[in-house]
Amino acid sequence: MTKSRVTLPAGMLFLVAATMMVALANSKTQSKQEKRPFGKTQDGQPADLYILTNNAGFEVAITNYGGTVVSLKTPDRNGKMADVILGYDSVSGYENGKAYFGGTIGRYGNRIAHGKFILNGATYTLAKNDGENHLHGGLIGFNKRVWNAKDVSSSAGQALELSYMSKDGEEGYPGNLSAKVIFTVLADSNALKIEYSATTDKETVVNLTNHAYFNLAGQGNGNILGHQLTLHAGKFTPVDATLIPTGEIRSVRNTPLDFLKPTAIGARIAQDNEQLTFGKGYDHNWVLDRTSAEALSAAAEAYDPQSGRVLNVSTTEPGIQFYSGNFLDGTIQGKDGIDYPHRSAFCLETQHFPDSPNHPNFPSTVLKPGQHFRSTTVYKFSTR
Ligand code: BGC
Repeated sequence: MTKSRVTLPAGMLFLVAATMMVALANSKTQSKQEKRPFGKTQDGQPADLYILTNNAGFEVAITNYGGTVVSLKTPDRNGKMADVILGYDSVSGYENGKAYFGGTIGRYGNRIAHGKFILNGATYTLAKNDGENHLHGGLIGFNKRVWNAKDVSSSAGQALELSYMSKDGEEGYPGNLSAKVIFTVLADSNALKIEYSATTDKETVVNLTNHAYFNLAGQGNGNILGHQLTLHAGKFTPVDATLIPTGEIRSVRNTPLDFLKPTAIGARIAQDNEQLTFGKGYDHNWVLDRTSAEALSAAAEAYDPQSGRVLNVSTTEPGIQFYSGNFLDGTIQGKDGIDYPHRSAFCLETQHFPDSPNHPNFPSTVLKPGQHFRSTTVYKFSTR
C-alpha cells in the first residue's frame, strides 16, 4: 500500500490552520439555544430541556417542567467551568423531589399561616403542606406543572418564555391566573435575567420566585459555610417557631442576621439565637434597602473565596429569603449521582414577604383584574 501525501506551501498551511482555529473558536463561543427531551411526567406529559448559551460559553439549562433552572455553568477565576446549581437529571427527580430545586414557585412563594387568608370578605383555604402552614403554592405548585415554551431570543440574549394558566380554585387560590416567566441569558454578561408577569380575572394573591440552590464551588462540592454573603438589608421579618412572620420589622443590628458587610455564612450560624433556632440556621426574609419600587436594586452578593466565583442578585422585589440549605441532609442524590450534604447550597429567593395576605403592614401581594403583575430578578456571575 502506498500512502499519498499532499504537500502544501507554508503560507497556505498557515491559512488553513488559521481558518480552522477561527471555526473552532466560533463553534465554542456562539450564542445559541438547544432543545432536548427531558423525560415524561408520571401521567405521560413530555418535558424538554432548553439550553441557553451566550458568546462567552456561560450556559443555563431550563426545563418547562416547573419552569426549573436545571443547571448553570459559569467559569471560576481560572476560566474553569462548573455547574453551580443543584438539581436532577430528568423530570422524575423533580416530580418526586420535595426540595423545590431551581423551580418557579407560585402561586404564592413562601408561607401562608394555617393556609388561610381573607380577600374581599371571603375566606380562602389552601393546603397545609408544611405542618400547619401552606408553603410554596401547595401540593402541586407551579414548580410541578408543565409550562408552554417559546423561544423569544433577541439581541439582548437567548431567551425562553414559559407560560402557565393556573385555574380558578387551583390549590385553593381564587381567579384564573395567567402567568409568564421569561428567562434570558444576557448576551453581554454572564447573567440570567428572570422576568415574571401575571394577570387575573378575579382578585387574588401572587408572589413568584425562583428556588435555585447555589454552590459557587460547584454542585456537590462541599458546604457553603465559607461563602461570604452580603445582603443589602438593614431589617428582617422575625418569625415564630413555624417560620411565620410575627408582623414585626426588626433591625439586623447586633444580630447574626446582619450581612450588611460581607460575612461568611458559617461565621455565626451556630450562635445561640432564637431566630436561628427557629430556622435551624438561616431561613428568613430580609427587607431590602432599595430606592425604587420599579427599578432593579442590588439585593445580595455571594462570593466563594476558593473558586473566586461571585454571584450578584438584583431585583425589583421588596424582600429576599436567604435559606442556608438547612433541610438538605445528605439523603438526596442529584445530577450525575452526586450527593447533596447538609448546607451544601444556599437559596436567595427574591420575593414579597411571607404571609403578606395576613399582614396589612407588609407590601401588598394582591392582584386585581386589569392590573399587570411584573417582577424582575437578575443573577449575575463574575470572578474575583
Ligand atoms: C423555605 C424553607 C424550606 C425550603 C424548601 C425555603 O424557601 O424558606 O423553610 O424548607 O424552601 O426547600
